[in-house]
Amino acid sequence: MNSELYLDANATSPVLPAAIEAATAAMHSCFGNPSSSHAAGLRAKALLDGTRALARRVLGAASGRVMFTSGATEGIQTAVLSALCAVRERRARGEAAGELLLYGATEHKAVPESLAHWNRVLGLGLELRALPVGRDGRHRLEVLRELAPRAAFVCTMAANNETGVVSDLDGIAAVLQETASPALWMVDCVQALGKLPLQLDRTRIDYAPFSGHKLYAPKGIGLLYVREGAPYTPLMCGGGQEAGQRSGTENMSGIAALGAVLKALEEGGTFRGHGQLQAMRERLAASLVAAFPGLEFNAPLAQTLPTTLNFSVPGVSSKELLDVFDAAGVRVSAGSACSASKAAPSYVLDAMGVANACSASAVRLSFGPLADDAFIDAACERILRCGRALFATRPAARLQQLESSGASGWLLFDEAGAECIAIDPPAALAPRIAAELRARGCRLLACFDTSIGSGGADALAESMNLTAGWPGQGAGIALGEDLLVQRGEAFLFGRARDGVLDPGAVRFVFGAAPAEGVAGATLCCHRAGEPAVSRPGCEPLPDEGIDLDAVSAAAYLESHPDALLVDVREFPEHSAGAARLHGRAAQHVPLSQLAGQAAQWLDQPRPLVFVCRSGNRSARAARTLRRLGHAQCWHVAGGLALAG
Ligand code: PLP
Repeated sequence: MNSELYLDANATSPVLPAAIEAATAAMHSCFGNPSSSHAAGLRAKALLDGTRALARRVLGAASGRVMFTSGATEGIQTAVLSALCAVRERRARGEAAGELLLYGATEHKAVPESLAHWNRVLGLGLELRALPVGRDGRHRLEVLRELAPRAAFVCTMAANNETGVVSDLDGIAAVLQETASPALWMVDCVQALGKLPLQLDRTRIDYAPFSGHKLYAPKGIGLLYVREGAPYTPLMCGGGQEAGQRSGTENMSGIAALGAVLKALEEGGTFRGHGQLQAMRERLAASLVAAFPGLEFNAPLAQTLPTTLNFSVPGVSSKELLDVFDAAGVRVSAGSACSASKAAPSYVLDAMGVANACSASAVRLSFGPLADDAFIDAACERILRCGRALFATRPAARLQQLESSGASGWLLFDEAGAECIAIDPPAALAPRIAAELRARGCRLLACFDTSIGSGGADALAESMNLTAGWPGQGAGIALGEDLLVQRGEAFLFGRARDGVLDPGAVRFVFGAAPAEGVAGATLCCHRAGEPAVSRPGCEPLPDEGIDLDAVSAAAYLESHPDALLVDVREFPEHSAGAARLHGRAAQHVPLSQLAGQAAQWLDQPRPLVFVCRSGNRSARAARTLRRLGHAQCWHVAGGLALAG
């Protein structure tokens, strides 16, 4: 297994050792309730007050409110509620309060969602309006100038979490001033702490939420700054803690840990400075450019946090890139962590006008100011390894599945991998397939859609200077010693004897329906659905009980020496980091080549344990084999991610 290089600091960070110590000490010896009047409570109160004073110094906020929250989402919520209640009061007094709730189009979802929620709950009927950003990711100040006089509340961020774009806060403040806007102003400072200078007292910012877990404090602790005189309405009422501003017994271990981080910021010496971080990022950027030809950065580096890179590799999806990075032990993300599990393209890049193709390939790499040169050296080396893995020529297989948006096409190769036939190739994959065949020096003999195909053959044929369509010779197409022939709407592939297909040696059937008289060992390759292959006349076995956790999988392999551990990740991932389970090396059969290999496993059954990155693809592999009638197959639930 590769050691883990964590380059997803904008999602969250590890916890500073001094913060862990401070939290532990707070739980051990300073566990009192700061509201209690006895000595234990007074000690906790001293810790609370000391940390607040420290926060004031670090944030440059000698005046105004500085309170502890559970994180930035709560801080944002409180700011929105406070601003909207103030608007309601102004309206009730007949004062001009504005009617627009303006938020930066690249704002974290916590902002527009909270605005919509409280606008609805309070029944204000204000209009939510996204403030557009330019191609550089910065707010369009000319639009703000136009809207500011009508704005009731303006929400912008200090730096964007996906792209690292640093906002022009002075420019925004100047526009609000010049236009005599009645708006209150919130600046989400989550990504700024420890990376950008802060002097909140000297700004006209009304509300500034912060989150501890973005800068080496644990999750569940944050800060909210409220300017002296800015309207305030508590979100939580009860015991009157935090001077009645935020009720609920304080998270003392979190506060102690955040205090340790703030202390490190104040004293200096722990975190790298801006110049050092910039130099580190330059090295990472240079490695990325060297590793991935054609790579583009999605935001101008001069205007972004020195710890963030957002890039795209033309023709390679975010998912593929992430899988390769993950296999190499490099943890990066495709956008914000909150949207990582959703397939939606990045709204941040969309708002910047980044082309769809680029946004579909975007990856965010971010590190924290604790990084050192050894870490950056290791990251640069791994990045280069990922590039080599991604562009290395794949070993040939007889049958390769081409999957795109739930539809499957197929590539059939001769034994040497020198010639091939494409059946129902998905149009979206045409450029990739063409590039790969060229890189392998493989000749495309024919490219056609069956009657159930989705019509992608034309796209591939065009990229390969070929005419799409079944060539139509009566004898079929020869591929080495094998033959592909048409029988009605089905296409049969197998060994040829005296120039004709041997009916007893048909290996694969493509197209509409299995032809009659096909032997039980034949696999039918489908265009859609799961499993992608089936056996005519075979009673599928149920999928229940295919899950093994990593420990049971290792025990199973130990007690079954004939069992095979199979890594079904795709070739670049395997190449970036081979799979092992408790010291046992895996044989590599990518999911896209499973159908071709399945025939052999069915001929000579042996126990199979599939593994992949997260357990999804290995579960599909095990289900496919079970449905083909192979009883002894399992997969490692949770994948290599949980097996480490
Ligand atoms: N704002 C920004 C810019 C963020 O990056 C995040 C975290 O993802 C949040 C707000 C929400 O912070 P928290 O997780 O502390 O609620």
